[in-house]
Amino acid sequence: MSKGAIIYPGSFDPVTYGHIDIIKRASKNYDTVYVSVLENTKKSPLFTVEERVKMLKDVTRDYDNIIIDTFRGLLIDYAKEKDVHMVLRGLRALTDFEYELHMAQTNYLISQGTLETVFLPTDLEYSYLSSTTVREIASFHGDVSKFVPESVAVSLYKKFGY
Ligand code: ADP
Repeated sequence: MSKGAIIYPGSFDPVTYGHIDIIKRASKNYDTVYVSVLENTKKSPLFTVEERVKMLKDVTRDYDNIIIDTFRGLLIDYAKEKDVHMVLRGLRALTDFEYELHMAQTNYLISQGTLETVFLPTDLEYSYLSSTTVREIASFHGDVSKFVPESVAVSLYKKFGY
């Protein structure tokens, strides 16, 4: 059954196996998956948007229905521009739920009911995994090979000079 397009927005600073699991599962169920890096001026990211896009392109290159993109401003405006009506978010634990529920309800409200959010529960294997943890471990020159693909690990090692 064809399900059209979906947007998976996030910071992806950097992309982890948790994100990749969600992206792969979405690619099986939707015609097109936009993985959209938010250019958030309020956060000070470790990687530039260009670096994050490059890493995402690298780890998804075997999938022809995944588009790596960037956006700034409101998600509803970006979704309208792309003519996409579905947003995908991953849920790791109950702690994610409240924030994600509020975001989903807000987007539904301010889009006048045109932008829906769907949630995919994370694979148990990755439920503890976050970009924050990965950055923290890498900053102390720890081994991140269990959390991110090799190309991303190399980028982290370079960033932290080891
Ligand atoms: P944001 O800063 O918008 O939360 P992230 O890059 O941290 O962006 O996460 C993007 C999306 O990926 C969110 O929906 C988040 O819940 C989900 N996500 C993050 N880590 C994992 C993981 N380990 N397993 C599944 N989903 C995850």
